[in-house]
Amino acid sequence: VDNVTHTLAGLAVAHAALFLRGRRQPETSNGPLYLATLTASAFANNAPDLDFLYRSITPGRLGYLLHHRGHTHTLLAILPLGLFCLALVAALLRLRGQRLARSEWGFLLAVALIGGALHVTMDFGNNYGVHPFWPLDDRWYYGDAIFIVEPWLLIALGGIVFGASRSRTARALIGLILVGLCSVAWWQALGPSPLLPVALAALLTFASAAWLGWMGWSKAVWRRRSALFCLGLGLATQLSCRAIARDRVQRALAGVPSFELVSLASTPMPANPLCWSLLAVGVSRGGREYVIQQVSAAVWPAAWPAGACPPLATGTTAPLVAPATALPARAGLSWGLEFRAPLAELRALAREDCVARAFLRFARVPFWLQAGEHARLIGDERFDRSPAIEFAELPLEPGAQCPHFVPPWQAPLPLLDPLPRGVFAMLAPF
Ligand SMILES: [Zn+2]
Repeated sequence: VDNVTHTLAGLAVAHAALFLRGRRQPETSNGPLYLATLTASAFANNAPDLDFLYRSITPGRLGYLLHHRGHTHTLLAILPLGLFCLALVAALLRLRGQRLARSEWGFLLAVALIGGALHVTMDFGNNYGVHPFWPLDDRWYYGDAIFIVEPWLLIALGGIVFGASRSRTARALIGLILVGLCSVAWWQALGPSPLLPVALAALLTFASAAWLGWMGWSKAVWRRRSALFCLGLGLATQLSCRAIARDRVQRALAGVPSFELVSLASTPMPANPLCWSLLAVGVSRGGREYVIQQVSAAVWPAAWPAGACPPLATGTTAPLVAPATALPARAGLSWGLEFRAPLAELRALAREDCVARAFLRFARVPFWLQAGEHARLIGDERFDRSPAIEFAELPLEPGAQCPHFVPPWQAPLPLLDPLPRGVFAMLAPF
């Protein structure tokens, strides 16, 4: 999830925490504690993304892929990161010549811990994944339920913070963020290959203005109720649409004897939970062939048919072709292209190429380009949008240096043999 959304979530939680505390101790919610709480929560809701500071210990794209959303996005890291945020707040208070009581520090620590946990939970919502239970459990967990930048969530949180904020500057900044968001939506709707229909851009613009107006000028009690209602409604919508879209694909593929489903990665379109883009990973021909099948799912085809959803990626780095076997025509589903190759090639890559093996600790939907005996590139189809070499694609060279500090994440693809695991796997020569 992007850092503007994380920051707005942090500010919303800070206001909620101050409100709950103020009901019991009204005298303390003013003064230095107010700004300290907002700052601590905004910091804590972004602190896990400090992984950019050490990503380069594993050079190149692998460093980003293996260390981003890595150790800092775990339950274990929440306490040290929270304490680090409080140290920053303490330094700021000292600069301003302000002090907090001991009980107020306890309150700030609770807010910071909630912030860290919320960050990991929000990142879990995407199809990118997190591994929150390391070092007890090295597996990736995927929420598969929300786009990485979700306009409706940005608008909802923006309005909530707008309503709760006392500062005119903060309110103006949120207004600007939403104006920027709507401009991008219009640009996407009117651009050469529209990702959003014009009606959706218009709806986002209208909703932003109405929500800011309502949150800015209604009574506090109604603001709180409508904030909870909108966030709950958004969550329920994403989760139920996710369940319908995935179920539709799983049922259709269950009727294809030549395809055995192994995993399913899903993501909704930004701003449109009625359209989902999925990648079904499976095996065929008695497990000898590895297959990735693209599919677009419409949750409510009568209102928004699959054909009206944004087109699936074509012209990718992966050599995608029309499906080899006929796939069932179902309302609400639109099948895309497939990647098909011998599974033995992938297993050989994991065994013989240390760069590919490290990459497979990240790749959930791996594809590769074979040139004779050897593979010359490995990538992840989740992030393959064009023929260019993108951030989740690695050229492979025979005899390349093996990467250092490879974290012990288990390969998300269940078709591979388990890789060495354990807390110290990354310290051992890989
Ligand atoms: Zn993150």
